[in-house]
Amino acid sequence: MDCCDYKIYDRNKLDHCPHCNTAGEKVKDETVTSLIITDSVIHNDNSYYLCLSSDCDVAYFDNNNTIIPISKLKVPIWFKKNSTPKYMCYCSKVTEDEVIDAIFNKNCRTVKDIVDKTNAMNISNCIENSPTGKCCSRQINDLISKLIDC
Ligand SMILES: [Zn+2]
Repeated sequence: MDCCDYKIYDRNKLDHCPHCNTAGEKVKDETVTSLIITDSVIHNDNSYYLCLSSDCDVAYFDNNNTIIPISKLKVPIWFKKNSTPKYMCYCSKVTEDEVIDAIFNKNCRTVKDIVDKTNAMNISNCIENSPTGKCCSRQINDLISKLIDC
């Protein structure tokens, strides 16, 4: 699965959120178009960024200071505060609580274990389903490392 290749996660393409000034992550127009509720306007020049601040209500922004707030999206963004449910895998609708349960109660120690026990990544269409447009394996891996190492 190409989408699971960590190297495609491009940290160089950063710009800053006009609302909170946090560095954003470049996302594809396809992702924004797919997740935005239909009455919202979108232009097409592949210039959107995801605001990575948990405290900020901005989901996406572009270089022209266009802002798409989280209230205009069909799904909550897991790392934004008060988001419910917190999806880890958007494609298969697996939540952070289910992954934590699998780690502590089902002895899952790897992303593959999690996939086996929760059906995460069973369906894989990250470009249209995930707010980052990228595979959730990195988030799941980070969560395993965080919970097992400490
Ligand atoms: Zn922001």
